[in-house]
Amino acid sequence: MSILVTGGAGFIGSHLLDRLAAEGREAVCLDDFNDYYSPRIKRRNIAGALETGSVHLVEGDICDLELCRRVFNEHRIERVVHLAARAGVRPSIREPLLYERVNCQGTLNLLECAREAGVEIFVFGSSSSVYGVSDRVPFREDDPADHPISPYAATKRVCELYCSNYHELHGMRILCLRFFTVYGPRQRPDLAISKFTRLIEAGKPIPVFGDGSSRRDYTYVSDVVAGVAAALDSSLEFEIINLGNSSPVTLGELIERVEQATGKKAQIERLPDQPGDVPLTYADISKAQRLLGYRPGTPIGEGIRAFVEWFREGGAS
Ligand code: NAD
Repeated sequence: MSILVTGGAGFIGSHLLDRLAAEGREAVCLDDFNDYYSPRIKRRNIAGALETGSVHLVEGDICDLELCRRVFNEHRIERVVHLAARAGVRPSIREPLLYERVNCQGTLNLLECAREAGVEIFVFGSSSSVYGVSDRVPFREDDPADHPISPYAATKRVCELYCSNYHELHGMRILCLRFFTVYGPRQRPDLAISKFTRLIEAGKPIPVFGDGSSRRDYTYVSDVVAGVAAALDSSLEFEIINLGNSSPVTLGELIERVEQATGKKAQIERLPDQPGDVPLTYADISKAQRLLGYRPGTPIGEGIRAFVEWFREGGAS
């Protein structure tokens, strides 16, 4: 009996697998090691968990329904954390069809397999981007989420609706967790903290979109993973739950934090706001606290220092 973690070689998935392996739990990582960013980084992310022997790797695509069925049968999957996706807002504007195929069709494949296998619980990695542009803060799970402003955000909302269908129609227990800008060691290279650190360390200018006043609810990866682990072991039926930090930080302050952690001054290249980017994310986390005992505890300065330390040890190369 195993836990399936799709996208387990990625940033959040590999941290989750480290945690499950440390607890001695049997898990299967299903990942296609695509080149959205270097597959070498993904292989390194997952090396430690594989060495423990309690995590098994299946290389393959969630869009391949027969492969997914085989994984569920051969590994007797009883719980699922579905994190595999094309992540990233801006590339989704360039390649909406790819995002639709992987995120929507891939999720439906997994929901079908989970239904056939009668799994105990299905945890879906959703996103704060479903809230779109909202000045009703902090964002609550019962706020409207019917106006996402990028194809990526739209696919995440569609997947939440599929999850709701599978709960209503088939009685499956499903939790949709809305992650808010997750950061920490292994962060995807396309995300701000990783990109800024790489460029500042190389003495190159950093692109800053807008006037620096946009705000994000940066959430440290081990805090998010604790929330995912609590979801996996919960007895809830169907819920949508924010996993954020509830403490938004401006882009300007974020840059200062990276400067402090690297000990280097950033050269700033100002660029116009990007289509698809929201001006603010800010999670109300009272539901996660109540239902999952979720208590994020990592201050932003500490989290960024941990990222820079990992980066300097060659983690991102
Ligand atoms: P990531 O890109 O590091 O991890 C995703 C993994 O999924 C990668 O290893 C990738 O190879 C794999 N994958 C992609 N397409 C696949 C396919 N067709 N078949 C099998 N594997 C495939 O991303 P992440 O930052 O760890 O994000 C994990 C999940 O959390 C994603 O669903 C993402 O949308 C969601 N999320 C992340 C954040 C964040 O700030 N990182 C915020 C909100 C939501």
